[in-house]
Amino acid sequence: MAADSSRPKLLLLGGTTEASALARLLAADGRLDATLSLAGATRAPRPQPIPTRIGGFGGAGGLAQHLRETGTRLLVDATHPFAARISANAAAAARLAGVTLLAVRRPPWVAGPGDCWVAVPDMQAAARALGPLPRRVLLTVGRKELAPFAAAPGHRYLVRSVDPPPEALLPRGATVITATGPFALEDERALLRAHGIEAIVTKNSGGTATAAKLGAARELGVTVVMVARPAAPPEVEAVATAEAAMRWVARMAPA
Ligand code: NAP
Repeated sequence: MAADSSRPKLLLLGGTTEASALARLLAADGRLDATLSLAGATRAPRPQPIPTRIGGFGGAGGLAQHLRETGTRLLVDATHPFAARISANAAAAARLAGVTLLAVRRPPWVAGPGDCWVAVPDMQAAARALGPLPRRVLLTVGRKELAPFAAAPGHRYLVRSVDPPPEALLPRGATVITATGPFALEDERALLRAHGIEAIVTKNSGGTATAAKLGAARELGVTVVMVARPAAPPEVEAVATAEAAMRWVARMAPA
């Protein structure tokens, strides 16, 4: 459906599986004039079924101005649980612009029987948790979070990211593989075996797209260094799935 001024406007802050799923639901539903916003972090984002804008807004003030100028009524923050800045900006901008905000926050992963997890509060602690003895480590932390590991060069790192990290950020001697989820259990098992991985470092992103590595680690007795999430802005209404977000949209903008 083409953009028009008669339908209420919704801005969807994305860059996640849930945001793409919600974009598909919004396109199929058609009652809102919805736009997806991406940071521009990924070189070749997947095509989306609703109009897409790319790039930052210039902080909370810039986002509030964008919401006012476009006459946006509803804002959905479906960004990644570790994208703390944009979530804080969304909460502040919604207040400033008088826009109704919903957050889509997938539940964190929780360790179960057979898991060997080391819980850490941040990436520096994750690098320390690898210990002084050399280990073969799979880093699935994103290409911007490699500095603490570059400063702990005693390990043999396998770095997996969507786009290749800049050479200067890589730990010495690291091997890089680029890949985009979802990942299957048998492929994760094969990867861990092929590289003799002894420890995985991951953000506690939650969701299903990248969870198979945890099952493979459990099966093979591989340690998982699990980095806790940053705090989310309090007092923002939140749901866990794209489907629940679509039900919220339907309540906010009845057909
Ligand atoms: P961040 O640190 O919270 O945000 C940094 C800046 O990027 C924000 O201040 C904002 O710039 C801009 N930005 C972020 N998300 C945006 C969006 N959806 N639309 C427009 N501008 C956005 O975010 P990040 O951790 O770099 O993540 C960037 C993107 O990658 C997000 O879309 C996130 O969902 C996705 N992602 C992040 C992770 C992760 O681990 N952090 C993992 C997977 C996907 P201005 O202040 O100029 O508006």
